[in-house]
Amino acid sequence: MKKNTLKVTVSKCPICGNETLMEKMTTVVIPHFGEVLLLTLQCEKCGFKHSDIICTAERIPSRYSLKVETSQDLYAKVIRSSTATIRIPELGIKVEPGPSSTAFITNVEGILERVKDVVEIAKRWTKNKKKQKRCDKILSTIEEVKSGKEKITIIIEDPLGNSAIIHSKKDKVIMEKLSQEEIKKLKTGFINNTFRFAKTQ
Ligand SMILES: [Zn+2]
Repeated sequence: MKKNTLKVTVSKCPICGNETLMEKMTTVVIPHFGEVLLLTLQCEKCGFKHSDIICTAERIPSRYSLKVETSQDLYAKVIRSSTATIRIPELGIKVEPGPSSTAFITNVEGILERVKDVVEIAKRWTKNKKKQKRCDKILSTIEEVKSGKEKITIIIEDPLGNSAIIHSKKDKVIMEKLSQEEIKKLKTGFINNTFRFAKTQ
């Protein structure tokens, strides 16, 4: 991926109010997809951090689904903006945008690694035998998916249309437009929180 830093600006921090928020903008060209903007915000005073991804092409609120069946599917690219919800129904996993949710570009394998890390931490913290068993089941399924013995579906939904799954075989990924009803049910994380923050002031 070719990265190109466009500009760095300083603005007002939404958390501490100081003029110490560094805003960095970078463009990245993703094969089979196009150009995306990576935005990183970091406050030098209070440590507030936020990152996001903005697609420069037309943004359509959408759902991308990929059935992960072969090792080739593990290398499909996943663009996840801060407003995306990721679901893996077969594992009972749903990752919703939160106040500190970050944007990233990875592949399916990278998503599985992230899920694995979270499940391993959850397993260590719980004393509930049933929950531990559930964690073990998820971890073993992830290993089976990686070796091509098990199949899962990765779904990414973004009401702002800044997220996507990109496969070198285009027809492997199903893209659907989200309905107004579906958009209403999805969380948007930071953007939503900032909006509420602004409204109460
Ligand atoms: Zn600050």
